[in-house]
Amino acid sequence: RDEDDPPMPRHRVTSKGSDVPDPVESFQALQERYQLSSYLLSNLSQCGYKRPTGIQSHGIPILMESRDLAAISPTGTGKTLSYLLPIMSLLGAPSSRTKADCGTGVRALVVAPTRELAHQIHNECLKLAQGRKWRAVLFSKATASTLADKSVRDKVDIIISTPLRLVSALKADVLELDNVRHIVLDEADRMLDAEFLQQVQEIIARCTYPQVQKAVFSATLPASAEKVAMSMLRNPIRVVVGLKDT
Ligand code: ADP
Ligand code: MG
Repeated sequence: RDEDDPPMPRHRVTSKGSDVPDPVESFQALQERYQLSSYLLSNLSQCGYKRPTGIQSHGIPILMESRDLAAISPTGTGKTLSYLLPIMSLLGAPSSRTKADCGTGVRALVVAPTRELAHQIHNECLKLAQGRKWRAVLFSKATASTLADKSVRDKVDIIISTPLRLVSALKADVLELDNVRHIVLDEADRMLDAEFLQQVQEIIARCTYPQVQKAVFSATLPASAEKVAMSMLRNPIRVVVGLKDT
């Protein structure tokens, strides 16, 4: 550990579920264990990320092993990377570039409660995508209209959106979600409360790909939201990160 590199606050992490994968101590270990692509490793170091935070160390292996996850970790602990890195690794390559048959249409969906938050997630995604031709779209009125053309939208890899925007596109019949293999609800406490729950359920119902991987991330998860989350997830692992001595 570098002397001049202030350590991230230490966290206590508890994971519950069956066959919980071991946490990783470094990003390098993800390459050894899961063949994480070198360009992703180098983009991480480009971002200045030297080592995984608690939620990254525990959460990334779980998602890399295609498990469903409920992750609860305080604000500022790097939850965004915890799901974006596995998604990009599991998708492998942009659909325009992959040799494997990856079907047609968007393959990963991140849903967040506000446009501002979706915007931040999109930015993090662009940093990780450096050097590859990923099409990660921040879904808005403007992008939704450019995606009205099916041949354009079939080339999109990842959509980041608020629930309302997705629901309107689904209603207008200008979006298919049947090829979505990974869906993340960020700030899940808000996504699963009364304001958004019905929209979220409509979205999930349209993700008909078999064994779609689902994950929820939040700083807090009240019992009621947690109950709903657990009913949506398949054999989930629940990871809780708490600040030490708080
Ligand atoms: P959260 O969603 O948990 O509130 P974010 O994903 O927004 O946290 O990340 C908070 C900040 O930490 C961001 O500026 C992000 O770039 C940075 N960050 C994420 N992972 C790491 C890491 N492994 N090392 C250093 N900084 C990181
Ligand atoms: Mg966040």
